[in-house]
Amino acid sequence: MEDKYTGFLKGRRELYANRDKFPMDGDIPVLQFINTIHRSDTDGRRDYLETYDDFLDWAYDAKVVEEAEYNNLCFESYCYFPEAEKVFEKVIDARNCINDLVVSLSEGVAPYPGTITNFNTHFEEVKKRIVLNMNGYGMLEVWVGTKDQLAFPLWRLIKSAQNFLMTMDGQFIKKCKCGNLFIDRSKNGKRRWCNPATCGSAYWSKEYYRRRKKCVV
Ligand SMILES: [Zn+2]
Repeated sequence: MEDKYTGFLKGRRELYANRDKFPMDGDIPVLQFINTIHRSDTDGRRDYLETYDDFLDWAYDAKVVEEAEYNNLCFESYCYFPEAEKVFEKVIDARNCINDLVVSLSEGVAPYPGTITNFNTHFEEVKKRIVLNMNGYGMLEVWVGTKDQLAFPLWRLIKSAQNFLMTMDGQFIKKCKCGNLFIDRSKNGKRRWCNPATCGSAYWSKEYYRRRKKCVV
């Protein structure tokens, strides 16, 4: 007979399989995370993260969590729903905060002091879960006490955001016409689209009709 956990996972997996897929534009998880809120001037605003479970599904798609961690956290969020809701509030706050910091970096201006103070508050949580270890190849940062922690995917993202903001050259961060941020690593630095297959082709098909209309006498 199927146990409770296996039965739960089966149902949860069905929900995951039938949901709208997340657009994963932005090249790296930190930007893909920011881009889960779509801020287009032309197509309007859409937030792909409305619940903790949305965040978890997204984190799984972005490979921020592995399958075993994902399964475990799905069950944890089901069992500890109020805690999951509290973590979700932090997810949304961290997403706004990281967005503001990344935009500051791309524009070459310092962020508001309150934004960096807020990032530090999130980062405090991360610091409590990282210890230094060392092997024959050198020193490593290692996560500790993260098992069953609903905020673990968020902590990983905050750590990635810190690395990104410390090492990334802001001139490579660009904004697509759809509002998404992406990294332009093209040789000539003229990449225009977060995703050439969607935003790029939508633009070029509009442009094609516009030019064709002009040609009709
Ligand atoms: Zn785009």
